Amino acid sequence: MHYTLHLTNQCNMACTYCYVNKDQVISMERETAVKAVNMAAEAKNSTGIIFFGGEPLMQKNLIYETVEYCTWLEKKHRGRFHYKVTTNGLLLDEAFMEFSLQEHIFIAFSHDGIREAHDKHRVDNKGKGTFEKLAGKIELLLSKRPYAPVLMVVSPDTVEFYAESVQYLYQSGFRYLICSLNYAAAWTDRDLKKLKIQYEKLAAFYLDRTRAENKFYLSPFEVKISSHINGKTYIRERCELGKKQISVGPDGTLFPCVQFVGEKEFAMGHVDTGINEKRREALYGFNEAEKEDCSRCAIKSRCNHHCGCLNKQATGSMEKVSPVLCAHERILVPIADRLAEKLYQKRNPLFIQKHYNDMYPLLSLIEDQKTTHKSN
Ligand code: SF4
Ligand code: SF4
Repeated sequence: MHYTLHLTNQCNMACTYCYVNKDQVISMERETAVKAVNMAAEAKNSTGIIFFGGEPLMQKNLIYETVEYCTWLEKKHRGRFHYKVTTNGLLLDEAFMEFSLQEHIFIAFSHDGIREAHDKHRVDNKGKGTFEKLAGKIELLLSKRPYAPVLMVVSPDTVEFYAESVQYLYQSGFRYLICSLNYAAAWTDRDLKKLKIQYEKLAAFYLDRTRAENKFYLSPFEVKISSHINGKTYIRERCELGKKQISVGPDGTLFPCVQFVGEKEFAMGHVDTGINEKRREALYGFNEAEKEDCSRCAIKSRCNHHCGCLNKQATGSMEKVSPVLCAHERILVPIADRLAEKLYQKRNPLFIQKHYNDMYPLLSLIEDQKTTHKSN
């Protein structure tokens, strides 16, 4: 279970696709964070506390205080926690990196790749691209945390740079690349054709890197290959709106996912009153209901059409599947399958380990941690 604490809806960037920029700035109070952590502490297993925004590093002190409070609870055997921050990177500094190492805070970094792609949407409050400013931040992050993931968003006007951007981020040192589309944008058939070309290029890149035994994770292919190999597990692990994670808005209102924060009709409780289980079940059930358009689709068990957040972002409604998502899945699945087939036929050792060894994620994590310790 994860609790995502939206520390503020303020940001020091003004990305053109951002859904959190609000006229009225609301920042979370310490008391609200403490109440959210107290709720999270009730779980039997270790609970993830994700610091989110806006830009969460604008509230560094609240992160320090929240982690300090969690540590105090742990000492009293009242809960176990692990942490993650999702940041645009502008406020990363030595002090925060040291703190993150000391407290084992996982850092996910948002970046859209090469300058032509990144600066189209990721701009500062004056509208100036932030590519330049982030070069040193990438270096700082990866020098301390060589396996930090990068989160990349692809829009219609950056799709032609998709493969090049992934390669740029890989060459910059990132090994965990999480890519997603800007589903809310207006994608044309022409853009989708470009997307297909980019995925073919990325498949060639994936093939080369895997044959060279370079350990890396490129989300679109990993997820689709896994959905074929571990079909049943994949179905079980897909989006479970409001069950696997709870987003806590800056004012303490609880929502089923980050995309819904601030939208009162999706509220499912408050840190003062707890989770409204009836509401949570209703939202979950509403999202789980089979989508009419998908009922006879051959790849429905491998498709991400149950992501309520994504559907809402694209169509304005949780129950209406995004046509762009549908097109995306139909483009990606055959390319991923052909890629997997090539690697499987050659019994590529890295591919077999990654996708057929249940222990691989754990072994890989241990290996990553050893490398992180060595580099510090
Ligand atoms: S960095 Fe993130 S929160 Fe800030 S404007 Fe960009 S997308 Fe929004
Ligand atoms: S590919 Fe399209 S039709 Fe098939 S399950 Fe996904 S969204 Fe539905």
